[in-house]
Amino acid sequence: MYSRPAILEVGLSSTSPDASQADKPSHFIREIILEDLRTNRFGGRVHTRFPPEPNGYLHIGHAKSICLNFGLAAEFGGKCNLRFDDTNPCKEEVEYVESIIEDVRWLGFDWEDRLYYASDYFEQLYEWAIQLIKAGKAYVCDLSPEEIRQYRGTLTEPGRNSPWRDRSVEENLDLFQRMRAGEFPDGSRTLRAKIDMASPNLNLRDPVMYRILHATHHRTGDKWCIYPMYDFAHGQCDSIEGITHSVCTLEFEDHRPLYDWYLDQLGIYHPQQIEFDRLNLTYTVLSKRKLLTLVQKGYVRGWDDPRMPTLSGLRRRGYTPEGIRAFCSRVGVSKTNGIVELSLLEHCIREDLNKRAQRVMAVLRPLRVVIDNYPEGQTEELDAVNNPEDPSMGTRKVPFSRVLYIEREDFREDPPKHYYRLAPGREVRLRYAYFIRCTGVVKDPATGEVVELHCSYDPATRGGNAPDGRKVKSTIHWVSAAHAIPAEVRLYDNLFLKPNPADESEGKDFTEYLNPESLVVLEDCKLEPSLRTAKPGDRFQFERLGYFCVDPDTAPGRLVFNRTVQLRDTLAKIEKAGKENG
Ligand code: ATP
Ligand code: MG
Repeated sequence: MYSRPAILEVGLSSTSPDASQADKPSHFIREIILEDLRTNRFGGRVHTRFPPEPNGYLHIGHAKSICLNFGLAAEFGGKCNLRFDDTNPCKEEVEYVESIIEDVRWLGFDWEDRLYYASDYFEQLYEWAIQLIKAGKAYVCDLSPEEIRQYRGTLTEPGRNSPWRDRSVEENLDLFQRMRAGEFPDGSRTLRAKIDMASPNLNLRDPVMYRILHATHHRTGDKWCIYPMYDFAHGQCDSIEGITHSVCTLEFEDHRPLYDWYLDQLGIYHPQQIEFDRLNLTYTVLSKRKLLTLVQKGYVRGWDDPRMPTLSGLRRRGYTPEGIRAFCSRVGVSKTNGIVELSLLEHCIREDLNKRAQRVMAVLRPLRVVIDNYPEGQTEELDAVNNPEDPSMGTRKVPFSRVLYIEREDFREDPPKHYYRLAPGREVRLRYAYFIRCTGVVKDPATGEVVELHCSYDPATRGGNAPDGRKVKSTIHWVSAAHAIPAEVRLYDNLFLKPNPADESEGKDFTEYLNPESLVVLEDCKLEPSLRTAKPGDRFQFERLGYFCVDPDTAPGRLVFNRTVQLRDTLAKIEKAGKENG
């Protein structure tokens, strides 16, 4: 049976101190929370949130953030909110809101009655903007977006004050109210925080708080034509919801001083922002913009294409929530961005499916075999084990008859050294059935292709053992031709050929690294009859081939399967994954 390579344990020991702790690895964020609990900083509360922007589907990187936020809340008896960060109506859609809700739930997390939207707080945010204007901490600026950029300066040069920086409070209040009333066109004015144009942190050089956007919002309709910027919304939303630990990815580290500045100036409840590393995976892109390009340009069939790293794609592929959660736990969190091997994710999925997936026999590239000495018209029902990992899953009957299908690659007319499967004159075991010996080969006279084998079987070997103790070197799977169910099987490979397709340093667009063979469709597969009742989403192990899942394209009379993952890790891949994470 499959056993986990030792190297993986070693390589991941930093995040999984021992197997029993695998779902509660310690890390710096946990330590911060433990310390805050010790000092009673938030009155013993732990309250996190997952704040997606509804401008795309969730992907495996988001899963890391979801598992972290909901996981911390669960571990410390706290709460975790689901909050849509819907401050940019131009890119946001209800379709995305709905998919995000479905995906977080599917991953296994529950926000109870705490589903919120930043747009719920637009009125309060507006009031707070007025408060900052009255305090002389915010002003209406008439510079164009391009001019604002020019005035901002660079990392090495300080910025310049806007000519509109010293408007009176009265004028600012009047203009801001008229901005809200819709008197000005998009881009003509902004509301900016008055902080410091010479700050070494560019985020503090009078950042924009509000912009004019005459756009219809998916929840507030046309009520607003000014929208708060992410930085002005995020901390205050956290504050309103009583969040204790506002966990986000490292690119927001430089925004933390601004997060703190707004909360301090407003004098409201102040959560703690903590940053962790984004998940990156080899042979994958995890930028929503790039994923959107793949969908819009038709490189994949949609957001839920089984090659996509989206949660809906992984679900369709057959990945389990349990396997994804185990992966997120294993990658852990840190303060430096890295890249995790895709094979580690596959390993976690395989480990989970190994425990739960029923074994069945399926032939993907069929070769007909006639057992000449087996009585014509006879069928017997043989016992097959459903899951050797879990005896409680029992056994089932598999029909055996005179004509079978075996896998094309399980026969070689001219077997190379170390090839132990079927060949002329050679004997092998048919899984759960009999020993058979190859006695003849039928070829297509035109092409020379092998189209049929003739074999004899040994009736004394029923169940797979010879009473005389003779051995065979190989066991192959098979399906009875008369009982076989036809199916289409879709085989997937990495979507990209390059380990880091997002790296555009070669001057190429990431789409140039797409793998043209990421999808191979096999239309003429033969399945054992127990699969007749399989439903979309059902997962199986096809013996010797891998884990497979029924695709929603399945219709009456047309079974479609996706290959979820192949059966074995290659040790080399895992070893490499261990090193990079260790
Ligand atoms: P955008 O470029 O649109 O901001 P995003 O991937 O950051 O994309 P959000 O909807 O803002 O998307 O993400 C929601 C949350 O998920 C954020 O807290 C973000 O930090 C986190 N997140 C996004 N991508 C990853 C990733 N690759 N690894 C870990 N966390 C992520
Ligand atoms: Mg983001």
